[in-house]
Amino acid sequence: MITAGIKKKKALDLSQTESNNPYESMMQRFQEAAKIIGLDEETYNILKSPDRQYLVSLPVKMDNGKMQVFEGYRIVHSTSRGPSKGGIRYSMDVNLDEVKALAAWMTWKCAVADIPYGGAKGGITCDPSKMSEGELERLTRAYTVALRDVFGVDKDIPAPDVATGPREMAWIVDEYSKLKGEFTPGVVTGKPLHLGGSEGRVEATGRGVNVATVEAAKKMKLNLSKATAAVQGFGNVGSITAKYMELEGVRIVAISDHTGAWHNPKGIDIQKAIAFRNENNGVLKGFKGGKEITNEELLTLEVSILAPCALENQISRKNANDIKAKLIVEGANGPITAGADEILQENGIIVVPDILANGGGVTVSYFEWTQNRFGYYYAVDEIHKRADRSMSRAFNNVWKMSQKYKVSLRIAAYMFALEKVATAIKSRGSY
Ligand code: NAD
Repeated sequence: MITAGIKKKKALDLSQTESNNPYESMMQRFQEAAKIIGLDEETYNILKSPDRQYLVSLPVKMDNGKMQVFEGYRIVHSTSRGPSKGGIRYSMDVNLDEVKALAAWMTWKCAVADIPYGGAKGGITCDPSKMSEGELERLTRAYTVALRDVFGVDKDIPAPDVATGPREMAWIVDEYSKLKGEFTPGVVTGKPLHLGGSEGRVEATGRGVNVATVEAAKKMKLNLSKATAAVQGFGNVGSITAKYMELEGVRIVAISDHTGAWHNPKGIDIQKAIAFRNENNGVLKGFKGGKEITNEELLTLEVSILAPCALENQISRKNANDIKAKLIVEGANGPITAGADEILQENGIIVVPDILANGGGVTVSYFEWTQNRFGYYYAVDEIHKRADRSMSRAFNNVWKMSQKYKVSLRIAAYMFALEKVATAIKSRGSY
């Protein structure tokens, strides 16, 4: 019997207003899970707020000769299970509550994946699409200098997130190594291979999203070679998720990015779409492999699987009742609001939550960090094998928890993580 998408009898009040604040969304799930596992008040109070919050002001000389001041954030949510780990996001939408939520999700994600890290996240409020490479480099270096006492191989280890990648990580390694006076590749992950990056890191998140999809499909008895999927977002996570799902035999009928969405019921050739994007400044604008639709329409297509791999709050109380997919796998962090979760559950839709589904990235980041410490590097097959095994194990741990307590996979994942983090906090003790 499938209980992960348990149907609830309770009537839902759709008129209820819903907050789009990701931190509140995170807290609602955290509270629900804390209640079920009977988390004590002291531990709850420790975990409900981040350990440390940094807001830095970053003056950067722009190409026109003028100085522009950017706001940068780094939130360390928890270091109870190890050094804090989490990406850096460049976007105009970056704000304190978003980064706080993303930092907490990292704590839960590392616990679900069973890797010895706490959680953190960083971001800079900027529009990278309107900045030159030189401006982005100066901004990234300024951010590294401002946070040099926060970052550290055994303290806090950044990684890429939206609009950052190996290039930005290389700048951070360089700036941090200069400040430290020694080459320190282990201070960030997601680096280029020639600077101590790991084989398999670029594809790790999307590959892991696919492993989660395969595991969920097994439980649901969903035949992937007959399944269809829509993937929102065609950056690192979305395009690679689509690529691996296509290899499983899934027909990808819709893809999108911030420039538009494309639908082709016969299936979109993902290799061709990736090649088109790579030759087209990283965007799908002008893609001819399907009929143009809107991103909103993509979410409500008649498909077996929906993979939101772009941003937060894409599925809310407003459109949750229109979702027709049987399975949603969250490649992005926070794409479904807490209010929408209830509706999807009511409608029997299984959701593999972000803190489980997209944990493949941080898992291979962990492998990268251990390789930097050893100075010994694994071949890609070894990385894939270990990461796939870890994703399958995490999925099955969470699945068992959801069956045992008759809760959604999301609440089960939070429960699983909370138990692990709480155990670490208690055994470390306090003064
Ligand atoms: P990315 O910058 O590589 O890609 C983001 C994609 O989303 C782009 O294609 C962009 O055009 C698209 N997008 C932006 N706004 C959109 C909109 N309104 N509608 C549709 N598409 C839109 O970023 P990424 O690394 O692929 O990250 C995507 C999500 O996955 C984020 O939530 C991120 O936190 C999460 N995530 C990333 C990793 C990782 O390893 N990169 C790991 C775990 C989670």
